[in-house]
Amino acid sequence: MNTIKPSILDFTQEELKEQIKPAFRAKQIFGWTYHNYVESFDEMANIPKSLKSELNEKYILNPLKIVRKEESSDGTIKYLFELQDGKTVESVWLKMKDEEIDCNGNLIHEAKYTVCVSTQVGCKVGCAFCLTAKGGFTRDLTSGEIVAQVLSLKKDNNHKHNRKINIVYMGMGEPLDNLENLSKAIKIFKEEEGLAISSKRQTVSTSGLSNKIDKLGEMDLGVHIAISLHAVDDKLRSELIPMNKAHNIASIIDAVKRFPIDTRKRVMFEYLVIKNKNDDLASAKKLVKLLNGIKAKVNLIYFNPYPETPYDRPDKEDMINFQEYLINHGLLCTIRDSKGIDISAACGQLKEKDKNSLK
Ligand code: SAH
Ligand code: SF4
Repeated sequence: MNTIKPSILDFTQEELKEQIKPAFRAKQIFGWTYHNYVESFDEMANIPKSLKSELNEKYILNPLKIVRKEESSDGTIKYLFELQDGKTVESVWLKMKDEEIDCNGNLIHEAKYTVCVSTQVGCKVGCAFCLTAKGGFTRDLTSGEIVAQVLSLKKDNNHKHNRKINIVYMGMGEPLDNLENLSKAIKIFKEEEGLAISSKRQTVSTSGLSNKIDKLGEMDLGVHIAISLHAVDDKLRSELIPMNKAHNIASIIDAVKRFPIDTRKRVMFEYLVIKNKNDDLASAKKLVKLLNGIKAKVNLIYFNPYPETPYDRPDKEDMINFQEYLINHGLLCTIRDSKGIDISAACGQLKEKDKNSLK
């Protein structure tokens, strides 16, 4: 039988120390893995041969394989990964800021990047507008599979281990529906001798499982949250996100108010704008009211159409009017520029493309 081995990326350094003796070897393995980006245990030069064969027998290093890559003219790169069991997930490498060079050719600051990672193969939530939902739910990703997405993207883009990077859990799947593996991945990312990505640089996006927002808060990991609100009344929200019936808007707002938030930071509310559904000023007005008392930031997202969806992309003018209304009423509000629009912007779309190309 083809057994699937655990990945070395599934473990914190403490956990590895319990499994690998003598314990200082765990530190060396961590260094080779997260600082040198090696691809096999055999490349770990100062690890004795006997331990290398033990590692090869018990673990795999990186459980992901890049099977497709699409680069957009704005610097966005979308990756399709194959997992050990042949399933696929997507991650996106987003260039948030260009590097800046002064007139003498000196670097003022390096380019800034964010990695958008997946947490599940498919998703149980079943949002009406989301392509990931169409394939149903297959399984949770392991912590190692979550960690491997960032590690692989950093390596593939020659991004040194000590360069800062942001992580958004906004890829395929509902992160809070895989809370155990998610929280472990958050901790592994934070490891000082690993990628050392502070929790302040990690944002968990959720469709609003209010009880799990509380649980994440109780874990006190220090991560940020983004709420995929998308609608201001429960009728429309339940049409777009069926589980809104169990976790309605009021319950989400209450959970957000209980969430431990860094006082310097804001809670992000994602609002997917769909033409003639939620793009009117009456909705903007309700949104202002709803977020009253919360240190919030709203991110308006253009709905990105795909074949056979009943929904349409909103007009630019309506987007701008909506944004202006929010700003004039004291809310911070950005419009998510459609990064990678010439590739397959929203999550699930590259995977869909790949399926079609295999037909
Ligand atoms: N499940 C979590 C994590 C992100 S889902 C959540 O819902 O918050 C992936 C992201 O893609 C969400 O922000 C969602 O709003 C966005 N998305 C899904 N389908 C989209 C589409 N057709 N156009 C634009 N954004 C879309
Ligand atoms: Fe799942 Fe998020 Fe897609 Fe909704 S939008 S189906 S929660 S991945």
